[in-house]
Amino acid sequence: MNQQQFENFTASSLYCEKCRAAMPVRERLLLVLPDREIFDYLCTGCGSSVGRREVTAGEKRMAQTKARRRPRRSAALRQLTL
Ligand SMILES: [Zn+2]
Repeated sequence: MNQQQFENFTASSLYCEKCRAAMPVRERLLLVLPDREIFDYLCTGCGSSVGRREVTAGEKRMAQTKARRRPRRSAALRQLTL
């Protein structure tokens, strides 16, 4: 198996120990915390959990506002503190 390909995978299929094969998975939101969200990956064959992913609030925000850049406010702040 190509290791590099495995690292870049989007979790559409994961190895399931019960099915002993790479199975398509379902992503399920498991837990929402103030600073992160945890997703569970369930095997569509037997329904057991085959993986987990954490998305931090920072990552999520970055993905959402990637295109939008906030104007820098450091200049204005400096003027106020002078
Ligand atoms: Zn399975």
